[in-house]
Amino acid sequence: MRIAMVSEHASPLAALGEVDAGGQNLHVAELSAALVRQGHDVTVYTRRDDPRQAPRLRTPAGYDVVHVPAGPARNVGKDELLPHMGEFARYLQRCLRRQRPDAVHSHFWMSGLVAVLACRELGIPVLHTYHALGVVKRRHQGAADTSPRQRPAVEAMIGRSAAAIVATCTDEMFELVRMGVSRRRIAIVPCGVDIGQFHPNGPRAPASGHAHRVVGVGRLVPRKGFADLIAALPGVPGAELVIVGGPEPARLGQDAEARRLAELAAWAGVADRVRLAGQVQRRRMPALLRSADLVACVPWYEPFGIVALEAMACGVPVVASAVGGLIDTVVDGRTGVHVPPRRPAALSAALRELLADPGGRAELGLAGRDRAVSRYSWDRIAFDVQRVYERCVVGGQPSDVLPAVGSAR
Ligand code: UDP
Repeated sequence: MRIAMVSEHASPLAALGEVDAGGQNLHVAELSAALVRQGHDVTVYTRRDDPRQAPRLRTPAGYDVVHVPAGPARNVGKDELLPHMGEFARYLQRCLRRQRPDAVHSHFWMSGLVAVLACRELGIPVLHTYHALGVVKRRHQGAADTSPRQRPAVEAMIGRSAAAIVATCTDEMFELVRMGVSRRRIAIVPCGVDIGQFHPNGPRAPASGHAHRVVGVGRLVPRKGFADLIAALPGVPGAELVIVGGPEPARLGQDAEARRLAELAAWAGVADRVRLAGQVQRRRMPALLRSADLVACVPWYEPFGIVALEAMACGVPVVASAVGGLIDTVVDGRTGVHVPPRRPAALSAALRELLADPGGRAELGLAGRDRAVSRYSWDRIAFDVQRVYERCVVGGQPSDVLPAVGSAR
């Protein structure tokens, strides 16, 4: 099949960890690569955000990236991009006319908008993955949510127009049904993990003299819950907390959220046990995760949460908030432990208990690796996504909900 991926702000080529570059970039890159391995032809359309970018290039993984000229050729925050999406849609439509794909898979709401606009006259089926939902963001962030006010209405429109919605977890499916999306058009296919790269055996980042290491990874945004982790730390004596993500270490001092977290650590009396590591390159991530006694993924809400899978694949137990995709991926008491979101006291108790139980941690880690390998390899995920494409391409719509790979226990 010939597949066009649309990922307006999240380029598969971006370095991960900065405010607008995380799981979506990785998802698009890994899914595209896995589809190419299965013999498909994949082109990713993403916004040109640097004048040095080639208009079109072939990646080593075998998929093409087209840099779409829409808005200024520099980094623009994703919440400022909506005005440029008309230009993006017109360019995309010209490309799709020239090289007609069998299906278009759009990622995030603005990509969904341009895909629906570009494909309407062409009769090409659009499959959409939201990655995050505006209604959920608004519920949790209230006035701090800077998304354009049109976002919920556009998301609902995509839900009505797309041939299929590829949701990444069960919780998202419930949200979509509440938004009025027909359940028959929703398939659940989670994100995956590179089980070859993220593996229990291999080098570990050096220890730093503390009795235990807890690692948290993610973009430095408040909803990732790093402040809750810091607030939990006084109740976890002897443990060091390494927070990975944000700008490169040299630029960390200019990052407002990094400064806020450092101040919080000082205020809580744990500054000597909290290390803000900044952005860590992908190739160094497995060694860093392997060096952890526990990986903590404690966001307020989480559309999917790839870091938990990466930790599981490395055989490291996960303490995760029982929200969003983490409800499906982390099996409470088997591959990790669930805690309520935004409750530092409960988090503190869970961390303390697990750090005191090396045998229990080893069991959770082994089960995590098994679960990652058996359910979440990118090849398996790409195969499930391909089945959704096939149902749409033959002209029909998904006849039923695909097996909820991520939610099966
Ligand atoms: N990541 C990384 N380097 C960093 C910070 C994050 O490679 O410095 C990666 C991380 O390993 C994961 C992704 O970025 O693969 C974040 O995905 P997740 O789904 O956890 O969060 P999102 O960014 O989508 O909210």
